[in-house]
Amino acid sequence: MHAIERLPPLRDVVAKHQLMARKSLGQSFLFDLNLTDKIARSAGSLHDHDVLEIGPGPGGLTRSLLKEGARKLVAVEKDRRFRPALEEISAAVPGRLNILQADALQLEPETFLEPPVRIVANLPYNISTALLVRWMSVADWPPFWRNLTLMFQREVAERIVAAPGSKAYGRLSILSQWRTSAAIAFTIPSRAFVPAPKIDSAVVQFERRPKPLHPANRKILFQLVSSAFAQRRKMLRSSLRSLHPDIQDCMAEAGVDPTTRAECVSLGEFCALAREFEQLQRPG
Ligand code: SAM
Repeated sequence: MHAIERLPPLRDVVAKHQLMARKSLGQSFLFDLNLTDKIARSAGSLHDHDVLEIGPGPGGLTRSLLKEGARKLVAVEKDRRFRPALEEISAAVPGRLNILQADALQLEPETFLEPPVRIVANLPYNISTALLVRWMSVADWPPFWRNLTLMFQREVAERIVAAPGSKAYGRLSILSQWRTSAAIAFTIPSRAFVPAPKIDSAVVQFERRPKPLHPANRKILFQLVSSAFAQRRKMLRSSLRSLHPDIQDCMAEAGVDPTTRAECVSLGEFCALAREFEQLQRPG
């Protein structure tokens, strides 16, 4: 039996340390270790990989990641109440679990990790998109991580993988799909969590692309996409007009219909538009 499997059941740990869930920190826990094992396994082989987990809480997924062979696991948890429960896990696998009590939004975790790195987390819903945008927006590509295996509220997961023409298609779809292949691995019903949230969750698997799907300047692409989807029901020529008086010429050059709406513009078309817009802004 693995040392991790000799640890007491999670429900007992939570009761012993009186770890009531705090809504303000997006806390809802998975006690079913079969489920956390499934999430850990969907990340790919963890042997010879460092793993970053955001929000380990009482440590269900943490246990699975260590059991599945993570070389080193860096677990970033803002709520200090979980420290004793996490220390108990750490004692079962000496030297493999590094617990950082910190706000994941304020931390540069790269410095604690050796490549190759996988990121696996049941994210606190209140910072999940902020973290994703950060991981997708780094200046240099490829980034420090190889893949992300992340749990989101199902509606957010659907926005990430959405195709043009659908209601869910938007900024998150483009940011994610430009630099990674993103797919929903499986969904998890809300009743699996304690306390149960109102909506189901889904695990999304992101594999980084060696280079973005289409060439484009990152800042210009993200600026165009933000402006376009800020007014997603408007025609593109209206939603982008404030960026440049001649933006409609870029649309013509890029082969993008100026009367279409953002939600119908493909990733390839946004990238073509970004390339034309970059030319337009070049002096001389
Ligand atoms: N991984 C555990 C599980 O699956 O049962 C808990 C997941 S719970 C949805 C999210 C966790 O993220 C909580 O433990 C919460 O305290 C933690 N958290 C919330 N905000 C955070 C932040 N800014 N930085 C780091 N951890 C945070």
